[in-house]
Amino acid sequence: GPRVVIVGAGIVGCALADELTARGWTRVTVLDQGEPVRTGGSTSHAPGLVFQTTGHPTMTRFARATATKYGALRLDGRACFKPVGGLEVAATRERLTDLRRRHGWATAAGIESHLLDPGECAALHPLIDRDVVLGGLHIPSDGLAVPLGAAEAQARAATARGATFRHGVRVTGMDVRGGRVRGVETSEGRVEADVVVSAAGMWGPLLGAMAGVGVPLSPMAHQYAWTTPLRELDLLQKLRGLVDPGGAVFPMLRHQDADLYFREHGDRLGVGAYGHRAMPADPTGLDRSGPDRGDMPSERAFTELDFEPSWAAAQALLPALGDAKVERGVNGLFSFTPDGMPLLGETSVRGFWLAEAVWITHSAGVAQAVASWMVDGVPSLPALDGSSDPDPVDVSAAHHDRFDPALLAPSTVRSRACTAFDEVYDIAHPQGLSTSSRPLRAGPFDARHRELGAVVAERDGWAVPAWFADNADLPEVCEVRPRREWAGRHWSPVAGAESLVVRRAVALVDLTASHRLEVTGPGALGLLQQLATVDLDRPVGSRTRALCLDAAGRIRADLDVARLGEERFAVAVATRLEARWLAEHVLGDVAVRDVSSGTCAIGVWGPASGVLLSRLTDPASRASTVATAAETHVGPVPVLALRGTPIGVDGVELRTTSDLGAALWDVLWDAGATLGVVAAGARAVTSLAVESGLRTLGSGVDASLTPAEAGLAHLVDPDKGPFLGREAVLAGGTPSRRLVTLALEDPGEVVVGDEPVLAGDDCIGRVAVAEASATEDVSLALAVVPAALSDAGTALSVEYFGRRLPGRVVDREVR
Ligand code: FAD
Repeated sequence: GPRVVIVGAGIVGCALADELTARGWTRVTVLDQGEPVRTGGSTSHAPGLVFQTTGHPTMTRFARATATKYGALRLDGRACFKPVGGLEVAATRERLTDLRRRHGWATAAGIESHLLDPGECAALHPLIDRDVVLGGLHIPSDGLAVPLGAAEAQARAATARGATFRHGVRVTGMDVRGGRVRGVETSEGRVEADVVVSAAGMWGPLLGAMAGVGVPLSPMAHQYAWTTPLRELDLLQKLRGLVDPGGAVFPMLRHQDADLYFREHGDRLGVGAYGHRAMPADPTGLDRSGPDRGDMPSERAFTELDFEPSWAAAQALLPALGDAKVERGVNGLFSFTPDGMPLLGETSVRGFWLAEAVWITHSAGVAQAVASWMVDGVPSLPALDGSSDPDPVDVSAAHHDRFDPALLAPSTVRSRACTAFDEVYDIAHPQGLSTSSRPLRAGPFDARHRELGAVVAERDGWAVPAWFADNADLPEVCEVRPRREWAGRHWSPVAGAESLVVRRAVALVDLTASHRLEVTGPGALGLLQQLATVDLDRPVGSRTRALCLDAAGRIRADLDVARLGEERFAVAVATRLEARWLAEHVLGDVAVRDVSSGTCAIGVWGPASGVLLSRLTDPASRASTVATAAETHVGPVPVLALRGTPIGVDGVELRTTSDLGAALWDVLWDAGATLGVVAAGARAVTSLAVESGLRTLGSGVDASLTPAEAGLAHLVDPDKGPFLGREAVLAGGTPSRRLVTLALEDPGEVVVGDEPVLAGDDCIGRVAVAEASATEDVSLALAVVPAALSDAGTALSVEYFGRRLPGRVVDREVR
């Protein structure tokens, strides 16, 4: 294997060294500026609670993999994980309901969990005042990792396979030449390397800067305190037969309504608080000493005043704390990113990887995914059923390059990290619209959107209208079924009405937030042919949809390709990472230019779109618009006109430069007035996409699926000649799992995503995306299920807040 340098010997660096050496990359050197084991980083004082269940399936898988690995790990005969279980309690109705949703997440991830009443909570954790709680969720396989033990055990395993750990060595520079990392400069001299991984935790931005790579995280202080000994706890522990003096017998506790968590340290409790003000720290000041500093770089002096409200809430939940005191506390620093997710993957500097902003909870799973990504090119986790084939995992949501540059100003990163800190234990809605500030990126239609009362969401830093308040007067609103409770939040029947107008008349849809690329040069066709699953050597004026696969045959991009000339293509993709996939594969005489920011796109969708456009196109130039992709004029505005819509209605997509966007909007709006044109928002588009059977990356499809599994085999032509992933397609055989569409029996029930899908009582999948269709009055959900249960007519149900909603697999068109 190549020579690898890992910067950082915290739990992430140690886990990664273990996983890389286990995969045969044994020339690994781990450098850390701190002392052995207790390096002074965040791992040095983390209490190690591992609550596995989150709303994000990949993160839950990372956590499960971590609990599994540490559960089997020993250091000098001592366990590195104590499966004491986790108990989350609810003190409010809203939280109680949310625990049912979390129960669903656990079920969907294959994690056993139980909803408890207050008496059962108190029986499980006798310090709880049962009158304070309304109920709880118990997850028996959660537990306490021993962070430094697990780190050291993994470091030893790596060392035994040939890795070297060097402590007291500070990395001071990165040798980057020809776009590739060649080694690192350190306080002890130069170390050659073919691959460098920054596992430097909250120092990440400094390491990134050495290589010219932005690392969007902020160190944040988090308060953790140890109580004085509790006699009641001591007695209870003795009754339960606790022998280990520093140990724990009762489940870890989360009291999220008060932003608190608890664990035992022998007869003391450890109390963690997220309720205090956000306290970001400057990465450049981490190693400085000062009066506010603790014993280690990751410690700041405990600010007692900040802890007082948390302590009062802790005493209210656990009356045994009434006589206790805070013996000591720490403001411990660790990394927060703008969205709370890790930063993983290879950077634009070849050979320079990041594994940052990772909790103890996810450390082993992340290390397995990153190591397999480095060694095999595809991130994967050991199969849950223990079979030998590793299981590919979609890491897009944790990819370090997921943020648009408009979100990367240090002040933006810091303020969003603060928001992420404040919201750690909040009940988050997956379709939540509220952003603390108006998005920075505004397209040329923004002023028009405001006039129409746009309710705005943020995507990739863009202000994207979700629906338009002005459309509340549309007669179609009365035809839309109201939605109850959770599904009704951050939603409006107006969105349904807008989707009806698209089906019946014509609407303008802002498509600017997608990514537009120009692929040009003598090598343009060659690049696209090498990546695309269908033949793109088609006539000028054609528009083609094609997938891109990785070597393992998993879907990595979904391309909309218009050929504008022999050596000139206009390509659109939905997400930043898809655009990156193309750019990463550029070789030779081809330029890929992202023109998203300087251009705009508008969909004119609906059966009346043809009439609308005929009012704006010259008869002479209409001939050219017969072609599927044509550079023409709409009114006075030069546009690229692309015939067709992704959702199976008539329409065109018009692209032009940003300076002409407002003019384009206005001519379309005026010409459409007598046709009843409206603006339709992103929620209408989602609903139209689901009802029309559209399956794209991020909405139903994820990067762990093959085309056959996703039902998109019709977009793959293995006979076209060589392309990346073709061998995997040919070797694929029949898939063992499939993405299917379920129709719920009651069209009035709408689910939002991530709910478990059940066959009888067995959980066999989770909802990937769901929406109700206003056009058809049907409630749909897409889910990956075992192939044996994928036939049309198969009865399956969706668990939603503890209820079972019956449904059936339906045979619908897939596009
Ligand atoms: P670190 O442990 O910080 O390791 C990074 C290493 O990089 C350090 O050892 C540092 O010395 C080294 N380094 C940095 N720069 C250089 C350089 N230039 N040259 C050489 N070496 C360098 N997580 C949970 O999952 N559960 C919990 O209950 C939990 N509780 C927490 C409680 C507190 C009070 C805190 C502060 C954090 C808690 N966390 C918890 C979070 C968890 O501690 C961190 O996410 C995790 O330890 C990060 O590990 P790491 O290896 O990435 O970083």
